[in-house]
Amino acid sequence: MTTIAIETRARQELVDITEQVRRLIGNVKTGVVWLHCPHTTAALTIQENSDPALRVDYLEHLGKLVPQPGFRHDEGNADAHIKSSLVGTTQPVLIEEGQLVLGTWQAVYFVEFDGPRRRQVMARVTAS
Ligand code: ZN
Repeated sequence: MTTIAIETRARQELVDITEQVRRLIGNVKTGVVWLHCPHTTAALTIQENSDPALRVDYLEHLGKLVPQPGFRHDEGNADAHIKSSLVGTTQPVLIEEGQLVLGTWQAVYFVEFDGPRRRQVMARVTAS
């Protein structure tokens, strides 16, 4: 297993980790990169990499779905826990012909919901 270290800079942020994931492929021609976020207030997703406004919309709309005030959890980050579950903490990425299988406009993102923090993503490459 490999660890990707991430340092987020805002309370909420999408961090493009596609290049770090791509470096894990090594000599594998066909397989999967399994990604796991071991945090309860962050997530992983594959999303558009072209328009930065989409990343703002993404976080703003999740904020409307799960507004911050009104929770019993005393750390003040219950919204971040719920968003982490909604988006998900695991993300497989296929490998074919030695390349990540991503669409032209897709990137792999670490999604911070309670930063800024030092984070990590656990990764395992399996060949098939
Ligand atoms: Zn908490």
